[in-house]
Amino acid sequence: TQDCLGEIEASAALNAFVHNTPEIALAQAEVADTRIKAGDAPAMCGVPLGIKDLFATKGVETQAASDILKGFKPEYESTITQQLWDAGSVMLGKLNMDQFAMGSSNETSCYGDVVNPWKIDDRNLTPGGSSGGSASAVAADLCLAATGTDTGGSIRQPAAFVGITGMKPTYGRCSRWGVVAFASSLDQAGPMTKSVRDAAIMLEAMSGHDPKDSTSAELAVPNFEAALTGDIRGKKIGIPKEYRLDGMPQEIEDLWTKGREMMQDAGAEIVDISLPHTKYALPAYYVVAPAEASSNLARYDGVRFGHRAQLAQGDGITEMYEKTRAEGFGPEVQRRVMIGTYVLSAGFYDAYYNRARKVRTLIKKDFEDVFAQGVDAILTPATPSAAFGLGEMADADPVQMYLNDVFTVTVNLAGLPGIAVPAGLDKQGLPLGLQLIGRPWEEGDLLNTAYALE
Ligand code: GLN
Repeated sequence: TQDCLGEIEASAALNAFVHNTPEIALAQAEVADTRIKAGDAPAMCGVPLGIKDLFATKGVETQAASDILKGFKPEYESTITQQLWDAGSVMLGKLNMDQFAMGSSNETSCYGDVVNPWKIDDRNLTPGGSSGGSASAVAADLCLAATGTDTGGSIRQPAAFVGITGMKPTYGRCSRWGVVAFASSLDQAGPMTKSVRDAAIMLEAMSGHDPKDSTSAELAVPNFEAALTGDIRGKKIGIPKEYRLDGMPQEIEDLWTKGREMMQDAGAEIVDISLPHTKYALPAYYVVAPAEASSNLARYDGVRFGHRAQLAQGDGITEMYEKTRAEGFGPEVQRRVMIGTYVLSAGFYDAYYNRARKVRTLIKKDFEDVFAQGVDAILTPATPSAAFGLGEMADADPVQMYLNDVFTVTVNLAGLPGIAVPAGLDKQGLPLGLQLIGRPWEEGDLLNTAYALE
């Protein structure tokens, strides 16, 4: 814990941690030490973690990297972080992220950009987003692991951009209680770690039914680490042809081939599959996610949480809402609220929101069909490129940024588990990741398949 606290200070330029909690960390480490000495050490005992700023942490600033929650210190602890403390982990502090988890480059945060520890010629690169602080912190050894959240790829894309492991569990595996809501039907938290084994151990501590989240599943939590046998002989790995994009860089193509060969060498059977509705996933996601976000973000009205705008003489409650929200929400969040309210409005609901929901069902069915044919896992690249330069895409058309999520959003729309694992470097020497998508509730099996790629 002390080493991590030192590294955090020394690496402040990465802008990964936004609130450090050394007193909490040292006190928890002390307790962990006593437990270890007493031979009563749970799985995560003494493991120093960084916590994404989206998780409510009692008495510690929780702002979802937004000015609208300035100074908000929750009176309660999120279920997941509580479970991690109960398992003996240590909180080093809160991690930077895209504002309200909206973004793919960690450039929408009220705390400023996060820097990827990987560089090309001293050029600062994005660590991806929205869990960019988590990714950067784990990759740079500021913590041993971090929590992330994934609504459309925010664990897997940043994990790929910094060369670490990131897993989004099945929707409902982990409680969402106390995690600031972005798009409730898509949001899942998960571990961001240095290895598949760490991901298995941490996911187990984060999982389980929570009576405070009606969408968390009433299922026993398996021992995920025990599933890591390394034996994937006879497993059927599907390669979906729709993920082969026009103009995809050769090195992503090569990475995918390498992954296929590694699976084959480990004794798995490779099969070509089709997920015909894939091309509609991104548009459907960018209707469903903003629709839910516009509803979830209605609560930030200047009354209940955080920031309230300075009012002028004669301003009424409407001006208070308007001024507070205009000042507190960043441009990307405002864009999402506008898209969301538009697609939910009476005149456009059927044309956009309802249609996107139908597309979502078709995407889910594509996966069900493939799994029904005996496919155990699906292998794809995690991202369409390696990390790009900070500022390179932020000023471009936002749709360019949304294209980063092309391989990851399908998993959230279908509620499936997905994992990104580091799979080598591109020709500039930057990390690239592969993604494996698994059957619902079979995270153990998925982790074991990912283990074969390590
Ligand atoms: N990049 C996607 C978005 O901006 C996904 C974000 C996420 O998974 N939280 O919506």
